[in-house]
Amino acid sequence: MADSSKASVAQFDAVVIGAGVSGLHFIHLARQRGWTVQCYEAGSGVGGTWYWNRYPGCRVDIESLEYSYSFSEELHRDWEWTERFAAQPELERYLNHVADRFSLRPHIRLDTRVTAAHFDEASSRWTVRTDAGDVVSARFLISATGFHSTPVLPEFEGLDLFRGLKLQTALWPQERPELAGKRVGVIGTGASGVQVIQTLAPQVARLTVFQRTAAYSVPQQNCAMDPQYQASIKSRFSEMRRALSQSFAGTVIVHSRFDTPATRSALAVSEDERRREFEDRWASGGLSFYNAFSDLLVDEKANATLDEFLKEKLRSRVRKPGVAEKLTPRGYPVLTRRLANDNGYAETFDRDNVELVDVTAEPIRHFTANGLVVGEREIELDVIIFATGFDMGTGALARIDIRGRSGRSLEADLAQGGWPHLGMMATGYPNLFVMNGVGAPFYNPMVLCEQQGQWILRCIDQMQQRGA
Ligand code: FAD
Repeated sequence: MADSSKASVAQFDAVVIGAGVSGLHFIHLARQRGWTVQCYEAGSGVGGTWYWNRYPGCRVDIESLEYSYSFSEELHRDWEWTERFAAQPELERYLNHVADRFSLRPHIRLDTRVTAAHFDEASSRWTVRTDAGDVVSARFLISATGFHSTPVLPEFEGLDLFRGLKLQTALWPQERPELAGKRVGVIGTGASGVQVIQTLAPQVARLTVFQRTAAYSVPQQNCAMDPQYQASIKSRFSEMRRALSQSFAGTVIVHSRFDTPATRSALAVSEDERRREFEDRWASGGLSFYNAFSDLLVDEKANATLDEFLKEKLRSRVRKPGVAEKLTPRGYPVLTRRLANDNGYAETFDRDNVELVDVTAEPIRHFTANGLVVGEREIELDVIIFATGFDMGTGALARIDIRGRSGRSLEADLAQGGWPHLGMMATGYPNLFVMNGVGAPFYNPMVLCEQQGQWILRCIDQMQQRGA
């Protein structure tokens, strides 16, 4: 299918932007089709999220056995996970193994950021440019630039004055900084904040946590992988993959059974029965609360039953006066933000070396040479860690100068709304496909990228049959 008529510019069937979970999978699909494919990755290694986010405690919230590819049963069988919920280093190793095992690496150019992609109507091809000076042409452009790949650092007055170490969870240095014995501050208590806080608290001299929005957190019940458990789940590969493909969020393991989509309303069962269901999921760990009842996300009263259960659990876990109150989530319904992975998070705040600062009551005013000022007091710090999140969804895509038909700008179109078709294709941008983007289901990305990859190929087949 490669077009060799334009000798001066390298011609590819597909250019893939990003070598995370989604990009790696699409390179594999393209190779299986016999396409010429070039992937550009801004980072110095493959893995996307699992390359960049090296902060202490970073780990997946979906069981490792589910957060893995299914396109090769041999891969699934051969790869031995060491923990029920893998930590970042193991996930990075897994994705590097995939890149090697399926010979993806020769198609990936690391340390190279795509800066522009313009659609040429005469040739119906995309001209792609990078910050390394590459100019290539592709028939299909696949954006696998990630939902959480553009970290955000809010502006803080006086930040430049601070003489201590500044770290950002999403840009954690390869050389892990020594934090033992230091006075550390963490700003942000979202998913990354929770993980870094509960991991660092026992290691550092003093930890001060600056919280704006409290997270609902549920115990992950992480543990070393039990070999029998791993073998048992692997032996039911087809059954699990079928269950995953029909599931609500791409995660189905509860204890060692596979969940089916919930059909019962939380309000249609007795209080005892509801509690039993919640306790069962609390004991199993992970994200399975999403599927406890069918209406937790669509009925306020049903949602309130889980809210009440989790708040009661929180109160029973924290003893320091006033802390459970501060840790209590407010202002949004449970499950509408990702549940945080709790491996002793709530109990962390009972430690003598940990202080929780509610910045809605004591706002961060400014940094100083020695720390920062909240409310009326200065808190001295050696290290400040920003767990302040991402320009989510379209952040990475909008930073590329993408021009479709008649030179229209994707950035401008994105600013006016979401993706019209399944989050994957937009009018005016022919042969551009977006994986794991805005408007796609919020789903286990390992399952999603395989479904999206197959969908893209079927769509291309259909277009070719119709001469579209
Ligand atoms: P990414 O992994 O984000 O990869 C995108 C890649 O594109 C990046 O490497 C980036 O450098 C590259 N890129 C972007 N723009 C350009 C450009 N212009 N040129 C070249 N390269 C570019 N999901 C879960 O389901 N469970 C979890 O537990 C979970 N934990 C997470 C923890 C953290 C800290 C973060 C940040 C995210 C987490 N996620 C989790 C979401 C996670 O992003 C997805 O699970 C998955 O890894 C996304 O894969 P991806 O390939 O779609 O995108």
